[in-house]
Amino acid sequence: MKLHFANERVLAVVAHPDDAELLCAGTLARAKAGGAAIGICVLCQGDKGQPAKPIKNLAAVRRREMQAAARLLGAELFHGGFPDGGLADETSQRRKLVEILRQFRPTLVLAHAVEDYHPDHQAASRLAEAASWFCASRAHRTKSPALPTPPALWWMDTIEMHRFTPGFFVDVSAFAGLKEKMLACHRSQLARGADGDFSPLLDLMRLQSRARGAQSGVAAAEAFRQHFAFKRTRAW
Ligand SMILES: [Zn+2]
Repeated sequence: MKLHFANERVLAVVAHPDDAELLCAGTLARAKAGGAAIGICVLCQGDKGQPAKPIKNLAAVRRREMQAAARLLGAELFHGGFPDGGLADETSQRRKLVEILRQFRPTLVLAHAVEDYHPDHQAASRLAEAASWFCASRAHRTKSPALPTPPALWWMDTIEMHRFTPGFFVDVSAFAGLKEKMLACHRSQLARGADGDFSPLLDLMRLQSRARGAQSGVAAAEAFRQHFAFKRTRAW
């Protein structure tokens, strides 16, 4: 199977500023190289993940870091602006994401799997599922017009691969270096690597890319599963 990304518009909907790097940036880069328009919507501000030596105005710092990473990728960046730990699948947050989806007009959304570890990832998963359905409903009014049809939806791998059963793998070997450069933009987050209660993110990202690559016979891969549901599944 070969994926063709020409004429696609791919939007990753993630909870935190560095989640796209860890789980789907290689696929976004490959989609862009294949002719797609790409975007990243970060729902939380990244305001609470403080390293041992606290950073002033952390949300503003992390905003700059995600802008730098998105620039490297050539992705359009959208912000949910919700506080860390504050994501919930409820009407006002759905409406905000519906409007972002209507602005970008994705044909494919990449979203957290609901079995991922972090409560914000789980809430982001449910929000993405709901908003990527209602964005095509004219009765759900926001500033921008409704999409003609709901985008396809792929669930992303979980952090450290726990409980995630891949449906397929995307070969991102050619983009492993770019993923690392993007992750390096998140300096305030990487500063937490030395904390006992956090993990070294670069090691985690490399390990996961190689493990998924080993499972699929390439140097580096990202794993996904299609959202199998009425009107949500497409042939690729
Ligand atoms: Zn996260």
